[in-house]
Amino acid sequence: MHDDRSLVESRLKRVLEERIRPALYPESVPLEVTVWTAPGEPVPVAEGLAAPRTPIAVGDAWGAPWSTSWITVAGTVPEAWAGRTVEALIDLGFDANMPGFQCEGLVYRPDGSPVKGLNPQNQWVRIAAPAAGGEQVLLHVEAAANPVILDYHPFLPTELGDKDTAGDRPQYKLARMDLAVFDETVWQLVMDLEVLGELMEELPVDGARRWDVLRAVERSLDAIDLQDVNGTAAAAREQLAGVLASPAVPSAHRISAVGHAHIDSAWLWPLRETVRKVARTTANMTALLEDEPDFVYTMSQAQQYAWIKEHRPEVYARVKKAVAEGRFVPAGGMWVESDTNMPGSEAMARQFVHGKRFFLEEFGVENQEAWLPDTFGFTGGLPQIIRNAGSKWLLTQKISWSQVNKFPHHTFLWEGIDGTRIFTHFPPVDTYNCSMKGKEIAHAARNFKDKGVARHSIAPTGWGDGGGGTTREMIAKAARLRDLEGSATVRWERPAEFFEKAEAEYPNPPVWVGELYLELHRATLTSQAKTKQGNRRSENLLREAELWCATAALRTGLAYPYEELDRIWKTVLLHQFHDILPGSSIAWVHREAEATYAALGEELEALIERAQQALAGDRAGGHELVFNGAPHTRSAAPAGGAAPASAAPADGCAVTARAGGGFVLENGLLSVTVDGEGLVVSAVDLATGRETVAPGERANLLQLHPDFPNMWDAWDVDQFYRNSVTDLTGVDALTVSLAAPDAVAVRVARSFGSSTVVQTLTLRAGARRLDIDTEVDWHETEKFLKAAFPLDVHTERYAAETQFGHLYRPTHTNTSWEAAKFEACNHRFVHLDEPGWGVALVTASTYGHDVTRTVRAADGGTTTTVRFSLLRAPRFPDPQTDQGLHRFRHALVPGAGIADAVREGYLISLPERRVTGTADAVRPLVELDEDALVVSAVKLADDGSGDVVVRVYEANGGRARGRLTTSFPLAGAVPCDLLERPWDGTRGSVTVSGDGVELALRPFELVTLRLTAATG
Ligand SMILES: [Zn+2]
Repeated sequence: MHDDRSLVESRLKRVLEERIRPALYPESVPLEVTVWTAPGEPVPVAEGLAAPRTPIAVGDAWGAPWSTSWITVAGTVPEAWAGRTVEALIDLGFDANMPGFQCEGLVYRPDGSPVKGLNPQNQWVRIAAPAAGGEQVLLHVEAAANPVILDYHPFLPTELGDKDTAGDRPQYKLARMDLAVFDETVWQLVMDLEVLGELMEELPVDGARRWDVLRAVERSLDAIDLQDVNGTAAAAREQLAGVLASPAVPSAHRISAVGHAHIDSAWLWPLRETVRKVARTTANMTALLEDEPDFVYTMSQAQQYAWIKEHRPEVYARVKKAVAEGRFVPAGGMWVESDTNMPGSEAMARQFVHGKRFFLEEFGVENQEAWLPDTFGFTGGLPQIIRNAGSKWLLTQKISWSQVNKFPHHTFLWEGIDGTRIFTHFPPVDTYNCSMKGKEIAHAARNFKDKGVARHSIAPTGWGDGGGGTTREMIAKAARLRDLEGSATVRWERPAEFFEKAEAEYPNPPVWVGELYLELHRATLTSQAKTKQGNRRSENLLREAELWCATAALRTGLAYPYEELDRIWKTVLLHQFHDILPGSSIAWVHREAEATYAALGEELEALIERAQQALAGDRAGGHELVFNGAPHTRSAAPAGGAAPASAAPADGCAVTARAGGGFVLENGLLSVTVDGEGLVVSAVDLATGRETVAPGERANLLQLHPDFPNMWDAWDVDQFYRNSVTDLTGVDALTVSLAAPDAVAVRVARSFGSSTVVQTLTLRAGARRLDIDTEVDWHETEKFLKAAFPLDVHTERYAAETQFGHLYRPTHTNTSWEAAKFEACNHRFVHLDEPGWGVALVTASTYGHDVTRTVRAADGGTTTTVRFSLLRAPRFPDPQTDQGLHRFRHALVPGAGIADAVREGYLISLPERRVTGTADAVRPLVELDEDALVVSAVKLADDGSGDVVVRVYEANGGRARGRLTTSFPLAGAVPCDLLERPWDGTRGSVTVSGDGVELALRPFELVTLRLTAATG
């Protein structure tokens, strides 16, 4: 037979596009349209409904960037349409090729009750089916003129990302505003032809099924009268019934489709707009659930539920009802889909605490899967946190974005730094916005790497970010793919149903040990430094506030600020969202984040001050007390307690001029030599006589690179950035700096480009640590600033702190996997050692770093260079990213073992506080007699019982035994999960004895203890 395949395929495309789809709405009449534009920010619904309208016509421009217009449409269903299905078509000026990221609307009835959202791929509102004829139609649309930030020519700098700079040029033109007859049969025909046409293209050309489908499609097209599509659509469908009824083969891949809309909690829009995006999408989804009995929708991020509850209670009532029916499924159990690289130990834990608690309290449901489709890499600390939160599964899709190495599994056990294993699934569909296209379904089946031993995968299905979620078209297509020859099968299922099947069919999945590093978006560890520092500072202040408020509550009866801490935690957790903390949002988001962190900082400082003053007693007649919020003893003050300040002796602290320029700083522990250009040429650990700085090299060298990635400016740094570098060695001034009585310091000022930097290098009495405070007035564009420390250490690997421990990364680039990790994350420290001697670099400020190695020609020794990443200056999406004044604190710790790295990391992050009062001292609530056991949190239990909750972890990566004693009479101690519920999952041992608890923990194990004080 002659091969006319491409002729039929092309015919299908043209007839669908030019004849059949236009027949979906065979008759229409225009709606009468009026508008009112809110003068500033969005107004309450009642105000928007009541505001006076003025006429507006199709084709008219509307919508200054970020403005809200209340558009009213009115009309009458023609009598002639009686018995037909009638819909309103409301096109706000959508670009249908872009499913979200533009204008959007929420439709209300005149009484203010929401109907559904309007989105580029979802422009209809059902009026009546069947219509009686003569119905009056009156609807109001709250239309948001969110400008397009990520355009067809992406990553161009734009001022549209902040309402302060966006101007007032209208962004959209009203398009179709009609009442129309909806032809259900034509719509079903479109669905049939789309499914079969898309399937056909994925089938092998030499297989019979492709030709069976092709001939059926041809017969169907023959059956259509192109002048009367509506009259012949049923006949055309009949020709397709046979090929649509042919069932899938037994070995077909099985896809669990999950209705979904990945809504970024802020990104190319401000937080306030996400509140409305979520309301529009959930209005759509709850309406769709009522129309489609098989459909299941899942939504993560407790924060988004909390927003609807607060701002759109009518939508929330619909959500609650659908959740109770088991069809709207809360997923993920986290407050937001956060970044996981940067959040500290406690914050990562609290993401689950607050997320899970919200779902439990609001809906009585506890889900067991962590749901992080879009997060930029996953730390080795996360598996243990997931397990301690009472969850056992993880879903993410993002690792498929890695640029170099293809991950070898789609379903596997992921093992974290402590040995916890989590059953993990990467959807092979490679998107979290599946739209049930044949290409996607076929890709999932082909791409699935666990074929032969497993058969199931998941497909999150729906438009996110203002696309409105799952559409009725996706559901119609899924119904046809339920059991269709040549395709994977598709069922709507809850994530838990998928995970249970996937686990059952795959009893011995492969294991991946250590972090899930994303080989992309590496610059998110550095971009928007102020947002990152706001997060760090807030995490540290929250630790102190909980500690001192709990201590003051037990000791003095001061009321514990439950409500304030709950609210502040939730705000900090929200800002760890995977486009806020990573620095990849528009200027508006980061401007607000900075202000929010400042306000939280003030509030937390006030809570700390109030609690410490209560503990210190009256100021009048008092003396100075040193409070130590760190988990390690500091000079006289115990960890978590306070002691009287003593005049610290400046033992051996000296600064002398160096021959040839520069200075030598000494404190009896370290001797640090700074050359005439203000660079550290030597740092000798006096206890061992060991030199830290590699011969011929200079440490604390600031280096400037050009940094213009190929795309994703705020997100990415591409490896070629290293090809050019400028060492910043020019000195404006080098002077001995005024320091505290117990410290010596030098100050070096430099200028470069349009920027200036002042660094203060300080050696304190009794500290084996060179503190480096950096103040940069940064006015560069598309540059990357690093601080380099070339160290005389030979090692294959180095440690970087992550949540509840540290992980090792190689210092070499043997394989493509190692080479791809050219920028990585640290929390408070990076540590390198040779047996018996090591060095730590600690930071209170930054997350990004890189480590490289060279072998010196002169002496054959190895130089391992650690560079902290300080600042970038990308221009998209915030054209002014990081411009202005920044302060950083880092330190070099020669002679540090891993325990020293842990301790110095805490000490630099949690400076002592001095308070005047009459108390002799403040004894810590809890004390530990083993340095490897580190207290992560001391707080009162969230349930208000007055119990003390203490979280402890083994920090050095070994086994540790120790005794936790309390300074209050102990009635009992119970191991708990992160939600402070009794838990028997502890793998080490926890034994209560007398006034304390004996702990024996495994490497990096964390344990949460609920301690009950004896009364009376
Ligand atoms: Zn996202």
